[in-house]
Amino acid sequence: MPELPEVEALAAFLRERMTGRVVAKVEVGAINVLKTYDPPPTALQGLLVTGVDRHGKWLDVDVDGLHLAIHLSRAGWLRWSDALPKAPLRPSGKNPVALRVRLAPEDDEDPESPPGFDLTEAGTQKRLAVHVVKDVAQVPGIASLGPDPLDDSFDLDAFRGLLSGSRQQVKGLLREQSVLAGVGNAYSDEVLHVAKLSPYASAGKLPAADVERLYEALRTTLTDAVAAASGKPAKELKDAKRAGMRVHGRTGQPCPVCGDVVREVSFADRSMQYCATCQTGGKPLADRRLSRLLK
Ligand SMILES: [Zn+2]
Repeated sequence: MPELPEVEALAAFLRERMTGRVVAKVEVGAINVLKTYDPPPTALQGLLVTGVDRHGKWLDVDVDGLHLAIHLSRAGWLRWSDALPKAPLRPSGKNPVALRVRLAPEDDEDPESPPGFDLTEAGTQKRLAVHVVKDVAQVPGIASLGPDPLDDSFDLDAFRGLLSGSRQQVKGLLREQSVLAGVGNAYSDEVLHVAKLSPYASAGKLPAADVERLYEALRTTLTDAVAAASGKPAKELKDAKRAGMRVHGRTGQPCPVCGDVVREVSFADRSMQYCATCQTGGKPLADRRLSRLLK
């Protein structure tokens, strides 16, 4: 799933290619991705793209005051094309393309094959979400977002405020979008590894020094990831994300800091990775699913 750094890079990528251009057509391939119906997606047609922003893991294409808000979710992706297929996209259960945005062609472009993007979704779990709204605050998933960890105003005090009184485990807190916007399963693993903290540590009870280290780890990990992703074309972002990981998705490989093996705890629908030597005093964490299976 794309998280803050990838969505930030996607927003920049789209901003560069779309701002100042007119949306010619919005075609829907999978009607279930549309979470709003008024205004309809066709309302964007003929309007000028005035900006592209990011809110947490949401992309926000500002089309002259109307917003196309996109959440790629776990298996969704955005595919840019300098020359889209000529044939119109038709709604179909089998179509991997859920939505297509065609720009109005410019003089040097094939009028039938203009640039634009496709939103695709792999797999059977359909969670890609597209909203067309007059104000992004009308999207519940955006309205409820916590502070952005890369915002200038997000200082150590603000971070302390989020943790104080929390009964959550720190891993869960970091990826809770209403607490902190943009961090998901992958970057929370990375941040905790950099901070040398157990994912199970109680967020509200962390000693002051740990909170400070966690804050630094959060800011540096995300800042570095944004820098690594920025300027990359949309199609290279997934691989770039994977390549930049220290522990996430690297079960069985050596920890780049201490050489211990990267371990995993799996849940029904995801898993997390950590280094016992760096993060949990050398003790492997209980894997609830595994221990349940062994009983
Ligand atoms: Zn280690």
